[in-house]
Amino acid sequence: MAADRVWQAALGEIEVILPKMQFATWYKGTELSLKGDKTAVLYVPNSFALSWLEKKNKDIILKAISKIEPSIKEIEFALKKGGSMERVALEIKSDKGQKRSAPPTKNLNPSYTFENFVVGNNNSLAYAVAKEVAANPGKKHNPFFVYGGVGLGKTHLAQAIGREITKSDDKARVVYVSCETFTNDFISAIASKKMAEFKRNYRDIDVLIVDDVQFLSAKEGSQQEFFHTYNALHQNSRQIVLTADKIPQAIPALEGRLASRFGAGMVADVQPPDFETRVAILKEKCKEKGSFLPDDVIEFIAKNISSNIRELEGALNRLITSSQLNNITPSPEKASEILKDFISSLNKSVDTAEIISAVCKYYSLSRDEILGKGRKKELIRPRQVTIFLIREKTNKSLPEIGKIMGGKDHTTVLHSERKISDQIKIDNQLKTDIENIRVILSEIK
Ligand code: ADP
Ligand code: MG
Repeated sequence: MAADRVWQAALGEIEVILPKMQFATWYKGTELSLKGDKTAVLYVPNSFALSWLEKKNKDIILKAISKIEPSIKEIEFALKKGGSMERVALEIKSDKGQKRSAPPTKNLNPSYTFENFVVGNNNSLAYAVAKEVAANPGKKHNPFFVYGGVGLGKTHLAQAIGREITKSDDKARVVYVSCETFTNDFISAIASKKMAEFKRNYRDIDVLIVDDVQFLSAKEGSQQEFFHTYNALHQNSRQIVLTADKIPQAIPALEGRLASRFGAGMVADVQPPDFETRVAILKEKCKEKGSFLPDDVIEFIAKNISSNIRELEGALNRLITSSQLNNITPSPEKASEILKDFISSLNKSVDTAEIISAVCKYYSLSRDEILGKGRKKELIRPRQVTIFLIREKTNKSLPEIGKIMGGKDHTTVLHSERKISDQIKIDNQLKTDIENIRVILSEIK
């Protein structure tokens, strides 16, 4: 291959590893030529750049070149004809004033801000850390990992961080993606041979927010690529924000090296809001929608819907739409009527088969594993959770549940139920797991 084509391809490799400023400064005007079969010579336009590249980037350069042209085993550096000392200073200067070429932000939703995020006991730590991250991106709490059940504000908070950063620095390149988008982008980049572009999109940025990283579970190729993306950003002090439904160590089939990195910065949880926080959230949402509801109606909703904030909003929307259509100001009685289906579907009793299948789905286990006699340690907790939920949601007696669970003694059933109700008070992960399974259950119906 001709030397200039080798160098163009190698530059593509190098560009994605180095910070943009470094790349633009030191590699401008470089040219490659070949000396014999094994040696390449890099001509550099000035002596500053020459010694810098030789001292600091020799290995990277040689590696990139030999990746393209494996016969090359050595690299030398030489000054280009007519090269000078001043040029580099000029180039650095003009680079600083230049606008960055990458699009400044991606996928930020303007309706998710810190201002409209209601802070309660359930999310105050996560909120405080998020504010600090937004004020010092890349410097404190990197990565920031937020976890918690469905509809509890993880996406809202993660987006608010991105928005806040772009507010104080309009050149900041903030990218928000769902984990699925990342995975899909990666797969299509491989298929269309556009890995260099993929790398640029994900590495030449200041803040990367990846939502719901539990979906990396069992996707080995994506995990590997994410690992490199993560390292490239982290090494250059770029901020990383991640969300998931559980703590990193509890995400099934996630490589240990990723789990340990995810947990290495700050980990904070969001929990279901208490009654007062639910009232405050409903009031905030009314304000945003420019609607008014009497306090007793707001309290009625907050009392009857407690599982998550998305459902709270759903009920509120239904009520507002219906009262606007019928031109009424609702009373709690009217609200109860309008939201009848909504509330009863949330509280509707479920049967044991649904509970078992929700638990299986959540822990990625088969029905046989849950109901069988296998004694593997990782089956114990899911079985206890199943029993706990059957006790909570049905009127089945202890012996009946024992039978359903594959022939267990009623004392075992009782023990399981007690164990979970004790643990749930001190084990946040368990609490989140059960919260999530309840959501899966409400979706099954
Ligand atoms: P998650 O990502 O945890 O599933 P979201 O961030 O999508 O949840 O939140 C669901 C909905 O609830 C969104 O419309 C969001 O604006 C709202 N929400 C969640 N937490 C709060 C909060 N603390 N204050 C105001 N709105 C919230
Ligand atoms: Mg979300």
